[in-house]
Amino acid sequence: MHLILLGPPGGGKGTQAKKLQDDYGLVQLSTGDMLRAAVASGSEIGKKAKAVMESGGLVSDDIVIGIIADRIKQPDAKKGFILDGFPRTVAQAEALDKMLGERSLKIHAAIEIRVPDHLIVERITGRYTCGQCGAGYHDSFQKPKVAGKCDSCGSSDFKRRADDNAATVQQRLDGYHAQTAPILPFYEKKGTLHLVDGTLPIDEVTRRLKNIVDGVAVG
Ligand code: AMP
Repeated sequence: MHLILLGPPGGGKGTQAKKLQDDYGLVQLSTGDMLRAAVASGSEIGKKAKAVMESGGLVSDDIVIGIIADRIKQPDAKKGFILDGFPRTVAQAEALDKMLGERSLKIHAAIEIRVPDHLIVERITGRYTCGQCGAGYHDSFQKPKVAGKCDSCGSSDFKRRADDNAATVQQRLDGYHAQTAPILPFYEKKGTLHLVDGTLPIDEVTRRLKNIVDGVAVG
């Protein structure tokens, strides 16, 4: 099964992809995570991506398409994957289509998690993750059960993304509306587009996503 989660930055794509991957035996492929790893490792790609990411802009299509082309060839992606943060432009959606077509594969569902702009700033500026296991938290909406301790692994090493600040949020939202939202009709025309209300509680969004995925799996 090949899924795409679409929606604005801070809309819950990463959170939901993590919840779906174990239940369906899929691997989460997040271009944002891959690019952050490239920046942290100081690789050539990381050097090119760093400043663009910190300013809230989009990394070039060539770089991101190259990363995904390599990644979907890996053995663990054979069972299926959930794309999170890719495609982000019409050119990326077309390149993905071509890549999958060459392997006789296709996207089964592209699901938009819709959240209005005015809710995004609070979501993004309050979020952080466990530096050890990657579990996601939020200052207001999802605090650890014991303050300062990760629920999943017990670590007290938490981190916030460099680009999760009020200054870049608007830039990222503008980029979403200008460059990413135009790919929604691309999947609508293919009959694979679904919509979920991303303002609902996390578990309800997960339940609705699973309903869609289950429908696709049997249909
Ligand atoms: P994300 O973790 O998806 O919010 O991505 C963080 C940042 O990485 C974005 O603001 C972009 O600078 C960059 N990025 C991630 N995915 C893509 C993509 N598919 N195309 C271009 N830039 C991307």
